[in-house]
Amino acid sequence: MWKRLFASILIFAVVVGLVFTYNESTGSDTGNTDVISEAVVVSADPGTGKVTATGVGKGIDGDVVVEVTADASTIYDVVVTEQNETEGIGTEAVKQLPGNIVAANSILVDGITGATVTSDAIKDGVRSALESAGFDASAFEVVQEKSVVAEKTAETLECDIVIVGAGGAGLTAAAQAVEKGADVIVVEKMPIVGGNSLKATGGMNAAGTAYQAALDITDSGVEEFIEDTMNGGHQVNDVELVTTMAQNSSDAVDWLASIGAELPKVAATGGTVHKYLHEPEDGSAVGSFLVKKLSEQCERQGINVMLNTEAIELLMDGEKVVGILANDSEHDYTINAKAVILATGGFGANFDMMTQYDPSLANAVTTNHTGATGDGINMAVAVGADTVDMEQIQLHPTVYQETGLLVSESVRSMGGILVNAEGKRFCNDMSTRDAVSAAELEQTGAYAYIIFDQRIVDDLASCEKYIKSGLTVQADTYEELAGLMELQGDAVQNFVQAMETWNSSVAAGTDAEFGRNNGMEEDLSTAPYYAIKIAPGIHHTMGGLKINTEAEVMNTDGNAIPGLYAAGETTGGVHGGNRIGGNAVCDFVVFGRIAGMNAAEYAGVN
Ligand code: ADP
Repeated sequence: MWKRLFASILIFAVVVGLVFTYNESTGSDTGNTDVISEAVVVSADPGTGKVTATGVGKGIDGDVVVEVTADASTIYDVVVTEQNETEGIGTEAVKQLPGNIVAANSILVDGITGATVTSDAIKDGVRSALESAGFDASAFEVVQEKSVVAEKTAETLECDIVIVGAGGAGLTAAAQAVEKGADVIVVEKMPIVGGNSLKATGGMNAAGTAYQAALDITDSGVEEFIEDTMNGGHQVNDVELVTTMAQNSSDAVDWLASIGAELPKVAATGGTVHKYLHEPEDGSAVGSFLVKKLSEQCERQGINVMLNTEAIELLMDGEKVVGILANDSEHDYTINAKAVILATGGFGANFDMMTQYDPSLANAVTTNHTGATGDGINMAVAVGADTVDMEQIQLHPTVYQETGLLVSESVRSMGGILVNAEGKRFCNDMSTRDAVSAAELEQTGAYAYIIFDQRIVDDLASCEKYIKSGLTVQADTYEELAGLMELQGDAVQNFVQAMETWNSSVAAGTDAEFGRNNGMEEDLSTAPYYAIKIAPGIHHTMGGLKINTEAEVMNTDGNAIPGLYAAGETTGGVHGGNRIGGNAVCDFVVFGRIAGMNAAEYAGVN
């Protein structure tokens, strides 16, 4: 029971945006300090032999600077003084690792699952600090003996609804079910909440909202939303699910506002001319914004999320689902419940599973977090559930290949363009993700560059991150930028020409070359100019469990499985053959709420 108390999602709320430090003697937190970008000795005390020095490691979003106090045999203090890591992911390593290193007196502590790059950056920083302090860092590379739990403790828990997965869908379903009066347990196998939802950069599509009305957007209603989603998905989508999503999207936006998550900015998304994409006011990425707000709501409602706890099997009573088996490093849990909601996300990090459906993906880069392994699909299939569209796996066209970091679609919707190795535009950059990805794969080297300018950087918070992470090259003229992009020969002049033509097209309001008709409000003439080299990467598994419009999971005979609900990326049918940017968030909020409400009603708490 203690575990539930301590594994509260409060963890997420506490870590976001802070710089953490752990001091062995005081355990106190301190604030940020000035940027130090190289290993230096800060102070030395000849009396005690203690030296304080800084070291630097390469994080996912730029340098991670660490200040270490040690002598030849003991690490006394580790402080992360500078970092720009991903909220809720890298920041969890920033919070936990310094204390673990001090406690173990070793650099070789376990990294934080899902935050490997940040964990390694902190360890590298400690290593370089120790070396610059004049100590032998290898003396601190002591492999920790794992504490072996002789036998796990069996524990039985009871609740109305158990929710598997604490990403966007799971947190939404939990908040909604508790609002209806249900007693809820959430299990999350990772050490952090948020899943892939945490990585969503664009916004949430919704139609008929008060925010659209306030901006006089009258041509982007529910009917257009349904039509665009069906066209974007090549009509493979389940039209009933799409209709349910579109019709409930405005209400979902209002519900989010009611819990403090307002999305008042409205833009167009890739593949549509209509404006449905609702974004946070401050330009922050929608995923981390919503996961934080949903976590805070769950915390206010007193919901405990059992982190590091993996569901492994559904419990059945005849035809009915009546709970789950789950475990962590110390316990085997039996969680009895009146209903189960699967919100385990997709399988975009499970290459065995993906290549069963599309062998060509074997060597592709993925943008997915490591927990996206299709567990919910496999658990439900084991009790007779049906699946749909499993072979529909989406490539996102703008992925930085070295780290799998996705460059937000918003860069293009705000006016960014794509050029190839010849310095030329090659497609309607705002077409659907599958069309743009396919066009990229046909270019020389199967890659492209995304081009944007200072105006976009000023309006879009994610851009700052790309710059700090070293993803970008930047210059004050197009020609200079072409040089930094390493364009060869004619490609330099082609690029200058492409930029000038694009700016004229924006002024004229038509893209004669490729017929782009959105994201053309402003040109790319505000220096400095930026480029990031990108290529397609695995992004979203659009197939999954077959559900009906009530978020009930269907069996292979076409009947709902009593007591089993699912929402979010673990389900299939909403996105069809291609997901429109902004629809994953709409999907998880709308169907997360439906699953939460219906599971509560099924559990008899209404
Ligand atoms: P969605 O957008 O549908 O909410 P996410 O990827 O954001 O999908 O969230 C799914 C969450 O489910 C992730 O945090 C993931 O770690 C979690 N998860 C996946 N499989 C399990 C499992 N077997 N037990 C517990 N949590 C799981």
